[in-house]
Amino acid sequence: MLKIGDKIPLELGGSAEITAVLGSGGQGTVYRVMFSGKEYALKVYFPKKLKRPDIFRDNLRRLTEDKTANEAFLMPKMLTAPVDNSFGFLMDIIPSEYKPFSEILNARVKFSGLYSVVNSAIRITSAFRELHNSGYSYQDMNDGGFFIRPSDGDVLICDCDNIAPYGEHLGIAGKPGYMAPEIVRGEKAPDKFTDRYSLAVVLFRLLLRGDPLEGNKVLKSVCLTEEAERRHYGFEPIFVYDPDDDSNRPVRGVHNNIIKFWRIMPDYIREAFEFSFTTGLSEPSKRLIEKQWLDLLKRLRGDITACQCGAQNFLPAVESDSEGKLICPCGIHYSKPLSLVGAKSSILLFDGAKLFGDNVDLRAEVVRNKVNPALWGLKNHTSDEWKCVLPNGEEKNVPSGKAAPIFVGTSVEIDGEKFEVKE
Ligand SMILES: [Zn+2]
Repeated sequence: MLKIGDKIPLELGGSAEITAVLGSGGQGTVYRVMFSGKEYALKVYFPKKLKRPDIFRDNLRRLTEDKTANEAFLMPKMLTAPVDNSFGFLMDIIPSEYKPFSEILNARVKFSGLYSVVNSAIRITSAFRELHNSGYSYQDMNDGGFFIRPSDGDVLICDCDNIAPYGEHLGIAGKPGYMAPEIVRGEKAPDKFTDRYSLAVVLFRLLLRGDPLEGNKVLKSVCLTEEAERRHYGFEPIFVYDPDDDSNRPVRGVHNNIIKFWRIMPDYIREAFEFSFTTGLSEPSKRLIEKQWLDLLKRLRGDITACQCGAQNFLPAVESDSEGKLICPCGIHYSKPLSLVGAKSSILLFDGAKLFGDNVDLRAEVVRNKVNPALWGLKNHTSDEWKCVLPNGEEKNVPSGKAAPIFVGTSVEIDGEKFEVKE
């Protein structure tokens, strides 16, 4: 164990001074340090806990040299010089506005709204898509590795020291509940297919706030011994909403989140999870790839709607009355909002609605006219001037920061994509 004030030499020169102990885990301890006038986190390994420390260190060095990783990953930045067989690395420190995923799961931290929830899912999925496309697997995906900013859903992913090229395995098994069944059964080492299983678990937990395999059947095992855990997550896994097997359904009073959030999910999301945790449990090569999840999540983002009370919901799952008006749980019946329909994406135009680009960059937002709040506009959040055509044919340029008026028939070109306001 190192102490505050200790100076740790770095491989490329200079030294980092320990200013605080941040936490200790199975593999090592993380400290806060100062290096060259800037704060970093320093992870120092317990060398005896690593199966092959030399290979592990070579892999770390490769990660420090890789500058192409998605910015969501907090990659190792610099290696320490080895002292007494021990070694570690510096990484960026996680800003305090980013909260552990586990605190979102246990409801200690709440998202600002559905856009933040879906955007965090998109951030995680696109980061893993890039990682897998560049030939790496993360190997140990679980809630401990993700930090989320609840105001907008931005994500930072730590524990990147286990990232390795396909086919290389650093001896990490993973966290129960997140591991693919074939790993739990001891048949396989982590690879991109097992990462894809873990991604489905992460997305399920993010959107449904519960465990996809923990229902009635698991509760019946009085205590979750290691043997019972291997059975429920490895040998006899059953999805809580398996359409052909209702033996492991969520239990009211215990799994309230899953019951509540499953009801408000559109069918296409429920079907994706059904597939992931039925066919996907036993056939790794059929698991959804990241691109499929991204398309579904972007569609989900476009299906966000809101009542004037502020409550947000996904349109396909909102009940409607005999006149076709949407029924909010607050009691208000409201008309389906107008849509902004583009070639690649579409959104519903409620007060505060947001249009994002391919990833999570904000392109436009619905605002009310300050003088006449009955007039709604689409505010330009891009740096380019938009070309807009009003229903009467009049052309209008909308500079960055200004708003295009929203009438049925208004068309506007945003980042090369043509959109039209429709009923
Ligand atoms: Zn309402």
